[in-house]
Amino acid sequence: MRKRTQGLLLGLLLGLAPLLYVGHVLGTDYVVARTSEPTEIALTVEGKQYLTLAEWFGPQALDHSAKFGTPLTYAYTFAVNWRTIARSSVRRNVTISTMACDENRRVLGTYTTISHTIHLCDRILTEPIDVQASLLAHEIFHSSQFAPADCVENEMQAYRWEAYTYDLVLRPDGETDLTHFLDRLTSRWKAGDDALRPFVLEGLGVKQQCGGGR
Ligand SMILES: [Zn+2]
Repeated sequence: MRKRTQGLLLGLLLGLAPLLYVGHVLGTDYVVARTSEPTEIALTVEGKQYLTLAEWFGPQALDHSAKFGTPLTYAYTFAVNWRTIARSSVRRNVTISTMACDENRRVLGTYTTISHTIHLCDRILTEPIDVQASLLAHEIFHSSQFAPADCVENEMQAYRWEAYTYDLVLRPDGETDLTHFLDRLTSRWKAGDDALRPFVLEGLGVKQQCGGGR
């Protein structure tokens, strides 16, 4: 099946093995140094230390961002084209928080422009790593937008980044309702906008969410 074969190896590489892991990833000038806790992950970009995890979401949100340290690291490592979006979000001092959600809730993440805060349903924390990374990629895209674009197009782009990240972040094991959903989303994304657009607008309720669409 898709993208699973290297999952265990990568899980060992990034998730379990090293107290200190330094390496070049995907042939780019990029280093992840992990010391002991997720909050101590530092990202080095283009030869200089650019971010620490504490800077991702501001000191006031350290407890929350630490929960997402691993999926953020996965997303940043593998979703190479998404990195500029992540950096833009960091520069805006975006914070992240979890919220309790009804299990039937369809919208699992929101971004509040005024407070620059991403809220994600806390049950996401028990989802596989690729699900967490891709949902973060979606909301972080929203948080990186200075002037909100057209609502429908904004969601289309967010779902493209979600699918892109899901496709690249590999999973050690496990399937859930959300992995099945993201499998469908990703196959639509790979088929192109003509396949993705109706899925996002009608299937995911974006047309309704955006006030009827255009
Ligand atoms: Zn969205």
